[in-house]
Amino acid sequence: MADPTSLSPEMVANWDRVRQRLKKEIGDASFNNWLRQLEFAGLRDGRLNLTVPTRFLRDWVISHYAERIENAWKAECGARVPAQVQVRPVEAPPVSARDASVSEADLKDGRAAVSFEQSLAELGAQLDPRYTFESFVVGKPNELAYAAALRVAEADGVPFNPLYVYGGVGLGKTHLLHAIGWHIRKRDPSRRVIYLSAEKFMYQFIRALRFKDVMQFKELFRSVDVLMIDDVQFISGKESTQEEFFHTFNALVDQNRQIVISGDRSPSNLDGMEERMRSRLGWGLVADIHTTDYELRLGILQSKVQQLGSKDVPPQVLEFLSHRITSNVRELEGALTRVVAYSNLVGRPITLETTQEVLRDLLRANDRRITIEDIQKRVAEHYNIRISEMHSARRARAVARPRQVAMYLAKQLTSRSLPEIGRKFGGRDHTTVMHAVKRIDELRQTDSNLAEDIDLLRRMLET
Ligand code: ADP
Ligand code: MG
Repeated sequence: MADPTSLSPEMVANWDRVRQRLKKEIGDASFNNWLRQLEFAGLRDGRLNLTVPTRFLRDWVISHYAERIENAWKAECGARVPAQVQVRPVEAPPVSARDASVSEADLKDGRAAVSFEQSLAELGAQLDPRYTFESFVVGKPNELAYAAALRVAEADGVPFNPLYVYGGVGLGKTHLLHAIGWHIRKRDPSRRVIYLSAEKFMYQFIRALRFKDVMQFKELFRSVDVLMIDDVQFISGKESTQEEFFHTFNALVDQNRQIVISGDRSPSNLDGMEERMRSRLGWGLVADIHTTDYELRLGILQSKVQQLGSKDVPPQVLEFLSHRITSNVRELEGALTRVVAYSNLVGRPITLETTQEVLRDLLRANDRRITIEDIQKRVAEHYNIRISEMHSARRARAVARPRQVAMYLAKQLTSRSLPEIGRKFGGRDHTTVMHAVKRIDELRQTDSNLAEDIDLLRRMLET
């Protein structure tokens, strides 16, 4: 990093004019909150080198002010230079005061140097830049939660308080909360949005108690425009934290500030949570995210493939994963990442076979115990043939095709190996099964009736 003392007087004057301009543009309050601590470290490698004391401020400045700073520089100095914001090395006490292991005296000293907004910002957790509304795939199971989240993010007022989003692990609750945060900050950088997990809330509160700093804690939390608490179930049973949360909650509602909460179950099912809190949480809009369905899983995988920029994942593999990895979206994404990484590493194309190989354990765990017998029965019913034809040696098209469909489904919907499947179809060879799978896969592309049959059968088998 450039030594600031080496800046020419001209540069220092330039930066001073840029600062004045920024202050005028965004107003004193925002300037003091976000840009006051910004320091200029010179022009280097064709970039405007800027530093701030914390990672949070860095991310904030980058996401909210980088363009504005570049414009201001251009207006004052004539050239457009990209801005680069970095965290400057820790200086004396202020920054280390964030560390819970420092002494009480250090903490007090340090805090004096830290602005109100900065403390507030650092009480929260950072938002993940990948979690936006744009990257959220909407389907039947999550459409209500999505619509409600978007509504909150786009409203100038408070459409419902609180918005309570709940659902099982890995279904997109955190993603939606972050999306709300990003969207609000983008629309109006002056709104104070704070996002944190209930656990972190609890930690901050306990720390405030320990350092006898409860006043500042209260003041900070009650000053926000939007408070988002993730995984609220974690404060079940923690009485003093619940109490504090309840008061914070009420204070914010009274001031008409937006609250967004997520949990893993409905408010009324939050055991270990005080009754008054449970009922309070249900006052606004309660939106549940249901478990994913096949279409949503497929949509998510397709969007993920696009993001990854990997073009060579065959549609059958995506379909296969959507059928077989049903537990949660995180696992689904993980499976795709593993398959893509594997193929990159060993330099082999992605096929159904490699996918099954790479994901063997995961697939077993997600096995929904559809049996080959179920498949044979359903397929025979569907094509109106006797179930014994699944085992027979007859080769007439009227029975051979349904048999191939059944083998294909057995491969897709169970974890049985080709020889195992062959055995269940009257002791056929594994190459016969392989041929059937390939043949049906090809036919599906051209024969829309067959494609529909298969879809239908699959659905019946899976419900
Ligand atoms: P939760 O907080 O409900 O446990 P997360 O929000 O952490 O779940 O989601 C787990 C992962 O799945 C994240 O990477 C998230 O981006 C992704 N995800 C979940 N639902 C969707 C969706 N509808 N569209 C895109 N990605 C999703
Ligand atoms: Mg979460």
